[in-house]
Amino acid sequence: MTVAAGLRSVNHWVTGQRVASTSGRTGVVWNPATGEPQAHVDFASAEEVDRVVAAAEAAFPPWRATALSRRSEILFKLRELVDANRREIARLLSSEHGKTIADAMGEVARGLENIEFACGVPQLLKGGFSEQASRGVDVYQIRQPLGVVAGITPFNFPAMVPMWMFANAIACGNTFVLKPSEKDPSPSLFIAELLQRAGLPDGVFNVVQGDKVAVDRLLDHPSVKAVSFVGSTPVAKYIYETATRNGKRVQALGGAKNHMLVLPDADIDMAADAAVSAAYGSAGERCMAISVVLAVGNVAEPLIGAIRERMAKIKVGSGDEEGVEMGPLITREHRDRVASYVADAAGEGASVIVDGREDASSRRSGFFLGTSLIDNVKPGMRCYEDEIFGPVLGVVRVNTYDEALRLINENPYGNGTAIFTRDGGAARQFQFDADAGMVGINVPIPVPVAYYSFGGWKSSLFGDLHMYGPEGIQFYTKAKVVTSRWPDPGTSKVDLGFPQMR
Ligand code: NAD
Repeated sequence: MTVAAGLRSVNHWVTGQRVASTSGRTGVVWNPATGEPQAHVDFASAEEVDRVVAAAEAAFPPWRATALSRRSEILFKLRELVDANRREIARLLSSEHGKTIADAMGEVARGLENIEFACGVPQLLKGGFSEQASRGVDVYQIRQPLGVVAGITPFNFPAMVPMWMFANAIACGNTFVLKPSEKDPSPSLFIAELLQRAGLPDGVFNVVQGDKVAVDRLLDHPSVKAVSFVGSTPVAKYIYETATRNGKRVQALGGAKNHMLVLPDADIDMAADAAVSAAYGSAGERCMAISVVLAVGNVAEPLIGAIRERMAKIKVGSGDEEGVEMGPLITREHRDRVASYVADAAGEGASVIVDGREDASSRRSGFFLGTSLIDNVKPGMRCYEDEIFGPVLGVVRVNTYDEALRLINENPYGNGTAIFTRDGGAARQFQFDADAGMVGINVPIPVPVAYYSFGGWKSSLFGDLHMYGPEGIQFYTKAKVVTSRWPDPGTSKVDLGFPQMR
């Protein structure tokens, strides 16, 4: 379709200012609640990416030399500014993403935790010190920044996921280039302005808007030392393979298919509340959303009944409408793709017990789709095998814990999983057995707090280190071990033997 002229433009942010693209290529930012275009976003050329990286490179030497106390002070100020602007950030991201304001406020709060964690950087960068490792010799470790690092982020958390990355990256003394999702790019610029107001020197944090062209240049630019990525699994794999081939350090977090195992002794109301919140919150567009319930034994009937009761009360509408609990999907194409899983399920032998396509909201002009519940889902069905990333929950009926566990462990994804039970022994066994990076016990979305690290296993993460928290600090620094002796003329002599610690 032709997009009307006169829409606002979303530009790059380089050396502390907005810079309009000269590539002549742009994308459309939609308003998912109305189905109308609301802005153009610049798509950088490779040469524009080079200019952004050059700005970050120039800012690196003075920034890495900046005192830890000063870096911490800037992050504290950023913390205050993000806190004071929570609603503004939430409103902005909701207008482009479609999630409700309450959900967007939650996103900002979880992102803020990462900034708070990074404020402790003087403590986090403390190394070890071994006095008298040999006579008159001390050995100690320091952690130093990598240089220019890049972050490539998905549409579903346009404020929080960048915060997962840049807070630790800049705290450790790196300079940062963010390539946000082209679907909801505006929060990146708002955050850039807050960082500037917090006192961050220009060039330390930069934003390049764009698509694959910009990403590919970041992946092969020799001055980019590390790449953090969050997005779908095929792209995560591509990013990991390309950037590691180019000698970069990479953490690439991919998609998910999170299973929630419900044992017969579970509290049915609690499990139903959790399943509905985790499956339909943010319209199912969360990498930690629950998309499959594994109902063990006779729990299936009462659980499905309780889920249906709750689904009937969910109010779908524009994210900024009072009382709305679930907003639209991100684009028309994505909405149609999600709906196709519901359309195909019956033909594959599953039972569609609530069909979101029939919800009144699905007739609105935005990218709406009501909530769906599919029973008798089985491995091999499209709706079981694929990450749907929409408000569709499947129920797989199983006879035993072992059968349920096998499904979780055989799944190619291993982001999050959860068990609902009153039995502590069963929960502990599950924590031991489950092949996934994040496990919830009577908690459906076990996103770790900022002082642990976030990451899945198997096809949900390519790379060695998880994101944010202690592993984030490790990712954004390289270790250097110093062995030091101060001259004592009395002990110095020529010795051609291999140095030994005596
Ligand atoms: P996406 O993979 O389409 O896009 C992510 C980023 O990669 C965007 O910035 C995009 O511009 C870029 N990109 C897209 N295609 C590319 C290509 N071919 N080459 C280079 N760059 C490309 O993901 P999305 O649709 O924005 O986000 C949803 C996906 O992200 C879901 O699969 C979800 O599970 C996943 N996700 C995972 C986590 C996690 O922590 N594991 C968190 C959030 C989202």
